[in-house]
Amino acid sequence: MTAEIIDGKKIANEILADIKEQTASLQNAPKLAIVLVGNDDASLIYVRNKQKAAAQAGILTELHHLEDTTSQKTILELIDKCNQDDLVNGIIVQLPLPKHLNTNEIINRISPQKDVDGFHPYNTGLLQNNEEPYFIAATPLGIMTMLKTVTPSLSGKNVVLIGASLIVGRPLATLLLNQECTVTVTHIHTQNIKELTANADILVAACGVANMVKKDWIKDKAVLIDVGINRENGKLCGDIDFEDVKEKALAITPVPGGVGPMTVAMLLQNTYRAYLLQHGML
Ligand code: NAD
Repeated sequence: MTAEIIDGKKIANEILADIKEQTASLQNAPKLAIVLVGNDDASLIYVRNKQKAAAQAGILTELHHLEDTTSQKTILELIDKCNQDDLVNGIIVQLPLPKHLNTNEIINRISPQKDVDGFHPYNTGLLQNNEEPYFIAATPLGIMTMLKTVTPSLSGKNVVLIGASLIVGRPLATLLLNQECTVTVTHIHTQNIKELTANADILVAACGVANMVKKDWIKDKAVLIDVGINRENGKLCGDIDFEDVKEKALAITPVPGGVGPMTVAMLLQNTYRAYLLQHGML
C-alpha cells in the first residue's frame, strides 16, 4: 500500500481562509513587519511567499528591505520602532543575516509579545517549562498540526528527529515531549542514526541533506515528516527519499507542498494571535 500524503498545502490554504474570515470582522487588519537584510536568493523567495500568503489571509505586511551592509545599530533601532508602533502586531527578521550582524542580539530585541517567529528566549523558555508562550516557532507548530491529522494521540509515541537546530529540531523536541512522546534528537555527530530511526513511529527529517533517508532507515508504517528543502538536478526535494519510502510508510509529507506552506500559515496564525493578544481579545 502507498503512504497517505499529508497535504500541507491544502491544510495551509484552509487555515489562511479561516484567518481571512476572522480578520474581516476586525476594526483594522493585523500587520506583520518583515525585516530583510541583503539579497539572499532563498530569503527573497521566502519573504515573497510570506507576503503572498499574508494577502490571502487578510494580513498586511510592511517590508523593511535593507542593504546587506546595514549596521547592527540601524537594525536595532528599526526593531525598537516596530516594537513601539501600535499598528505593527508581529515582527520577524528573515534569517540568515549577513555575517557581520549579531543575530541573537537582534532577535532578543523584538518584544516577546510581537515575536511571531517564536525565537525570543522568553518564548522558548516558557515552551521549555511546558507553560504557554506568546508564540511557538512556525515550523514546529505546523508539524504538530500536520501530525495530529494522522496521529490524533501522540502520547507514548517513539519519535526520532534528524536535526537539532534552534528553529526546527529543538522546539519540536520540546513540543513532542510536552505531548508525552519519547523523543530522540539526532544531529551531524550522532553515530548510527539508521539504528535509531528504524525504531521510530514518527520520523522528522530536518537536516538539509537531499534524499538522505531511505526505506531501510524507517520502521514499517512509520509517519514521516520531511522538513528539508534541497535542490538536486534543478528539482526541489526533501531529506527523505520519497519514491524509495512511499510503499513502506504509513503517511508522509511531500516536498514541495508539505511543511513549507504550513510554516507560512502558522506564521500568519501567530500574527493574528498577536493582534488578539494586543487588543485584549484572547
Ligand atoms: P541547520 O543547518 O540550522 O541545522 C541542521 C541540523 O541538521 C543540525 O542539527 C545538524 O547537526 C544536522 N545535520 C546536518 N547534516 C546531518 C547529517 N548528515 N546527519 C544528521 N544530522 C545532520 O538547518 P535548519 O535551518 O534546521 O534547516 C534544516 C533543513 O530544513 C534545511 O533544508 C532547510 O531549508 C529546511 N527548513 C525548511 C523549513 C520549511 O518551512 N519547510 C523551515 C526551516 C528549515
